[in-house]
Amino acid sequence: MSIFKTIKEQLNLIDTAKHYGVSIRRNGFANCIFHNDKHPSMKLYKDHYHCFACGAHGDVISFSAQLFGLPPYEAAKLLATDFGIADIKAISRKQQYLTENTARSILTEYVFSLKSNRDKYRPCSPDEELHPLYIESIKLLPLYEYYLDILTSGSKEERKLFINTERRLFNELQAKLRQR
Ligand SMILES: [Zn+2]
Repeated sequence: MSIFKTIKEQLNLIDTAKHYGVSIRRNGFANCIFHNDKHPSMKLYKDHYHCFACGAHGDVISFSAQLFGLPPYEAAKLLATDFGIADIKAISRKQQYLTENTARSILTEYVFSLKSNRDKYRPCSPDEELHPLYIESIKLLPLYEYYLDILTSGSKEERKLFINTERRLFNELQAKLRQR
């Protein structure tokens, strides 16, 4: 289960907002934290908020992210710490593990598609003009096989470092694979 899901399940937005000093009227409205609100136009519910003036809408995580000026993941970690939500480390470990699995399956799929292009567009004779996808596969295969090797047989630190430094690469590959 992701840290986001755990937090959303365990925290009630109204109590969380109160805990951080947001003043909520009896009718459930508070001054919107997303725009310069003079009259309370943001309604807080247990599981979401909605601003009737600026349209801001979201959950306990986006609310806290805005309140503290943090990215959502940082806000989630802060909430987990402040509210003593169980075993945040276990949750992060699990996320790392999931990311690693996803990364590996993206790479495996990409290497597979390069290999199939290499075989499909392999020239039949020396005079044949090389297909761009054949050239691409020949050029890229060694690099991506090496990457896959890191994720398959690298140490824990190597795998973690690789995934953390190559996040953009994985996003690009995922987009590329989706187009095929
Ligand atoms: Zn608003």
